[in-house]
Amino acid sequence: MLKFIRELTLSRKRSLEERRFILAGCVTIVSIFAALLSGLTTNQGLIFCLGMGAAIIFMGLLIIFTLRTKRFVLGSSLIIIVANLLILPVGYFFGGGLHSGAPLWFVMGIVFVFVLFKGALFHIYLLLCLVVFFLTYYLGEMHPEWVTPLQEGNDMHLDSYIAMACVSILCGTLFKFQSMLLLHEIQRAEKQTKEIEKLNSVQNNFFSSMSHEIRTPISTIIGLNEMTMREKQLPAEVLENTLNIQNASKMLLSLINDFLDMSKIQSGKMEIVPAKYETSRMLSEITNFHWNKASEKDLGFEIEVGENIPPMLFGDETRIKQIIINLLSNAIKYTKEGSVTLRFGGEKISPDSFLMRVEVQDTGIGIRKESLPYLFDAFRRVEANETKNIEGTGLGLSIAKQLTEAMGGNISVNSIFTKGSTFRVEIPQKIAQGEITTFRKPGLLDRQQPDYQQSFEAPTATVLIVDDNEMNRIVCRKLLRATKVQVDLAESGKVCLENTHEKHYDAIFMDHEMPEMDGIETLHSIRQQPGGLCRETPVIALTANAGGNWDQFYLEQGFSAYLSKPIQSSKLESLLLECLPEDLVEVNYTDADKTDGPTIYEKVSKRAYIVTTDTITDLPEHLLRENEILTMPYYIKTRQGRFQDTTEIDANNLYQYLLNTSDNSAHSTPASVEEYEHFFGEALSESRFVLHISSSRSMSKSFEYATQAAESFGNVHVVDSGQITAAQGMVAIRAAELLRSGVRLEEVLPELDRYQKQISLQFLVPALPESNTKHRLPYLLRVAIKAFNLEPVFITRKGKLTIRRFLLGYIRSTQDQFVRSVLSNPRRINTKRLFVIFNCCPMEVRDHVLNEIEKYVHFDEVIVNLGSASSFINCGPNSFGLIFETIE
Ligand code: ADP
Repeated sequence: MLKFIRELTLSRKRSLEERRFILAGCVTIVSIFAALLSGLTTNQGLIFCLGMGAAIIFMGLLIIFTLRTKRFVLGSSLIIIVANLLILPVGYFFGGGLHSGAPLWFVMGIVFVFVLFKGALFHIYLLLCLVVFFLTYYLGEMHPEWVTPLQEGNDMHLDSYIAMACVSILCGTLFKFQSMLLLHEIQRAEKQTKEIEKLNSVQNNFFSSMSHEIRTPISTIIGLNEMTMREKQLPAEVLENTLNIQNASKMLLSLINDFLDMSKIQSGKMEIVPAKYETSRMLSEITNFHWNKASEKDLGFEIEVGENIPPMLFGDETRIKQIIINLLSNAIKYTKEGSVTLRFGGEKISPDSFLMRVEVQDTGIGIRKESLPYLFDAFRRVEANETKNIEGTGLGLSIAKQLTEAMGGNISVNSIFTKGSTFRVEIPQKIAQGEITTFRKPGLLDRQQPDYQQSFEAPTATVLIVDDNEMNRIVCRKLLRATKVQVDLAESGKVCLENTHEKHYDAIFMDHEMPEMDGIETLHSIRQQPGGLCRETPVIALTANAGGNWDQFYLEQGFSAYLSKPIQSSKLESLLLECLPEDLVEVNYTDADKTDGPTIYEKVSKRAYIVTTDTITDLPEHLLRENEILTMPYYIKTRQGRFQDTTEIDANNLYQYLLNTSDNSAHSTPASVEEYEHFFGEALSESRFVLHISSSRSMSKSFEYATQAAESFGNVHVVDSGQITAAQGMVAIRAAELLRSGVRLEEVLPELDRYQKQISLQFLVPALPESNTKHRLPYLLRVAIKAFNLEPVFITRKGKLTIRRFLLGYIRSTQDQFVRSVLSNPRRINTKRLFVIFNCCPMEVRDHVLNEIEKYVHFDEVIVNLGSASSFINCGPNSFGLIFETIE
């Protein structure tokens, strides 16, 4: 029976209400049956027993009727009326009254009201039952003669016991079934939630892969259409068609991008990628485009730029642009006449952060107050009547809100229906540079969207396009047609490698996702291809992956640059121009056009990497230039102030100054963290990644400062060279060589670590300068060196400067001893290149030393350089060093 009730009540085929009714009905029948049993055993008379029997039959019929008609409220009401208002009072009078089990059955009756009803009916029945039960008690007390008493003793106790046992078991059962029902429902809800989540993630994956797939054919449409548009003297109708195709495909593309963003946000994969950016440039790029759009609709377009905006900020420029572009597009879209105003400003909220505030105001259709709460919901378009003829998906504002919140900001709106709206966005950004006065206000430049402008011609240059999709190859080739470069096509990584084995290419465009061998594998194979002719050729990733930090991903994989599909011909050309050797470019139109015209496209043609180091590397100018290494100045601090090493003070000036002033406070010092930030910022405007080779961290604070500064960027990596002067320079040259030949950063770093240990640096220091050595050598040692006229030989070992030996004798003889000892084992010396750094040594000393060197080892190249002021102040006059690579 219990099992049957269990199945009935838990079956999902029946509604919750139905199941609750069945449960209550069955419990009622069982209760009456129990009361009947109790009546029979306690001799409560025939009327009582017949009444109970009739009640059981009635209840059975009632349950069947209710289940058939599904009128559960009526069925429940009848149960309560019959059981509580009829059977229980009658049972009270015929079954022993207060001194029987009847009061307990009243409790059961009240519990039923709780189980079966809710809302107003519950209150009504509860009250009714309480009143009827009260009257029953009252009448029983007033007219004891109406109550049929049970026999004292056994009957009374038995009846009360049976009632207690039945009521408690039935109430417990009710409670248990209710809990089971609840548990089942919770489990079902959890299962459903999981299924929905699974479905959601499948849907998101579907969206992102579909978006990716759709970008490829759109890329073909846009590319081929652009080729048609480039044709001169097109018939008016064809021109109109091409313009329509262009607009439609751009819309389709932005739609796909929105879907992609939405699915990324929903699956938690949307990443905020901060980097340093120029505020005014970002603003110009946005405003130029929208100014054109507004003027096409004859709308005014105002820009109000606030005061004190930091020129460089640190944040996710792409996402901020996306938010502002969305608000501006909406403002223009939903405004028929009047104007759109963009206000850009904000305030400094701490020394290094700025609260950017952007307001977009329009005089458009406005938004009803009741629609405002739903404005930022995905897929929700408000004011259906007013917006039904305006294209849109209802995704833009939702994406804008989620992006703003992901960056710790907020977005709000103020709108007067029919008068216009103002959207306001506040986003905290880090200040990337100290001064805040040099912000250039964005200019509104050329009104016209530029037609295609060819940027260069290079008829002798060879380019390989690798893509498994034939249409993509064709589009890319056509887009390059005007540049006259010679284009070869490869449909797979394998064919690409066959080509690169046979022929040298000046640039390769490589698709990422290809069957069998993908673009990344192919790139790595090109770099290591035995007998390959393109091991050093720049390879540009060409891919339908867009958004996020793909550019960094591809650079880290070793690509020289990254270009997303659909290909913008201007970007394609500018990237290629950047990659081609200058002598192959016959006509360069871009130089001439550089000064005017709007900045509509972002400059993508940055170099992949720049290697930077400190000026104290003592590298000659030509080596820095050849290896494209930028240097961060070191400084000399004297009582007169701080001077930039080499440019403001050189070793000779400093020597003279020290002789004249005996300023023993003079010392060398690295640039500050802010100066390093500024330096890296400059380097990043030329390249996408900076690898900074710093002086050994145990000898200079420069590593610490550069590392702190690098934290503000994310694409600056600082390496401890473990060396100083030219040895540090050698590490920087090695880094530049490796990166130039396409070795990936992850492989460059361990190689540099190995290489720095291979460098031998030894300096002969005849006169230890007070200013510097005082914090490096123990006092007693310094006294001994002075007293015995010892000349220490310093070497770098494990990143530290240590004294290797002391030389004793006249200056000439110690110089000879030094050269002999350093070069005594020629078999361990790589004779390719020797650096000789002299610190304020007379000419004859230099000649003598160079002659001595020749006696022991012949180097292919001997680079003689004068030490910087920093080098001089640390080693003193007449000191010199020999630096070369050893053979392991
Ligand atoms: P879409 O513009 O693609 O429909 P959005 O998410 O950008 O989607 O905007 C959602 C809705 O908010 C729009 O459909 C429009 O009803 C309303 N809306 C957005 N911006 C404005 C505005 N500047 N003026 C009036 N209504 C706007």
